[in-house]
Amino acid sequence: MLPDDAPAEESFRSWLLRHVGASAAEAILGLIFIATFDHDPGRLSAAFARERLRRALSGGVRYVVGGWSTLVGLLAERAASLGVQIQTRTRVPALPAGQTILATSLATARQLTGDRSLAWPSARVATFDLGLRADAGPGWFRVMDLDDRIYAARYSVADPTLAPPGHELIQVAAACSPRERKTDAERRVQRLLDQSWPGWRAAMRWQRSCVRTHCTGAIDLPGTTWRDRPAIRRGSPLAVATDQSAAPGLLAEAAITAAQLAVQQLLVPSSDAVPAPIRLTNTRPTMYGLSCRQPVRSGLATVGSPRDYPFQLHREGAHCHDVLGYGAPPPWKGFPLARWRYCAVALGAGRRVLGTPDR
Ligand SMILES: Cc1cc2nc3c(=O)[nH]c(=O)nc-3n(C[C@H](O)[C@H](O)[C@H](O)COP(=O)(O)OP(=O)(O)OC[C@H]3O[C@@H](n4cnc5c(N)ncnc54)[C@H](O)[C@@H]3O)c2cc1C
Repeated sequence: MLPDDAPAEESFRSWLLRHVGASAAEAILGLIFIATFDHDPGRLSAAFARERLRRALSGGVRYVVGGWSTLVGLLAERAASLGVQIQTRTRVPALPAGQTILATSLATARQLTGDRSLAWPSARVATFDLGLRADAGPGWFRVMDLDDRIYAARYSVADPTLAPPGHELIQVAAACSPRERKTDAERRVQRLLDQSWPGWRAAMRWQRSCVRTHCTGAIDLPGTTWRDRPAIRRGSPLAVATDQSAAPGLLAEAAITAAQLAVQQLLVPSSDAVPAPIRLTNTRPTMYGLSCRQPVRSGLATVGSPRDYPFQLHREGAHCHDVLGYGAPPPWKGFPLARWRYCAVALGAGRRVLGTPDR
């Protein structure tokens, strides 16, 4: 029914409305919140949300016995067997010296480095964990409110080790708009549970809840793709690998791919290393970093060989978006050019421009 490809420039809602009726579009938006955690998936890039929809519908879910901690435990075991020293329950207070991969959240990496370009949109979600007596359990495994963007599942049905004997674990995720209060999200969830499991209040033995931001990976807004997210390589000897970094994949996959790329990039000999995007001393801090629209036809000159530097010089503003002025005087000759994603290139009237190659 829906084409496989969708444009990154268009919003998911307007793209959907070109292919299906309004009520079908709203139902699809309600469904895709589960794979994006976003309160309004219609605002996301059509390419991003279409791919999430494809992945969400492409197969069943595998529940690992013990949940994430089983996966983390196995990874830690394997790392330790390779000689890695792991220190837990310790916060790194400052950026360590030497080769470093920061695999925290993007927000923490921003704090540790002071680099404000380490920022990208993510969803806001309220999560509720409920421990309930099993004898009064409902008949369902999961229940969704597509209009209200709530997903609840009785995970202890798939994995009984998650709750003590005679008990159930229900986990609920409710997408929140930027200003929704936790108590309001709580009320929405309680309404859904009242409708789907009338006895849940009497059966409840334990609960916890919180509102989380920047914990459910990146979301790409129209006009952006994962390639526009903060680069992993930040200049020798630092790499930042998070689930909001410039890496493909769904949710945690992006974090895993980012980590693999970070290792590969730090292993690149320094002569071939990818310099970090040049730190701009700009007067408009919110316009930090940019990329060029491709293909570029009216550049001033081609830089390097097409293989090494598949860029062209641009006049500021021509075929670019988010172009920054850079206060340094010409000539630009000798200005460092980076391979791969970043390229500090052209100037016009004493201004330098940072650009990127083809998407
Ligand atoms: C409710 C919910 C459901 C989800 N469901 C799924 C799902 O079904 N599938 C999926 O693929 N993804 C899912 N995700 C997303 C997934 O959890 C994340 O994408 C993934 O955990 C990101 O991994 P990460 O290692 O990049 O970051 P994190 O898991 O956030 O790990 C970063 C680590 O850095 C540590 N840290 C932070 N600051 C410091 C410091 N100063 N010093 C030392 N350590 C520090 C933190 O304590 C943390 O342990 C879900 C997320 C949520 C919130």
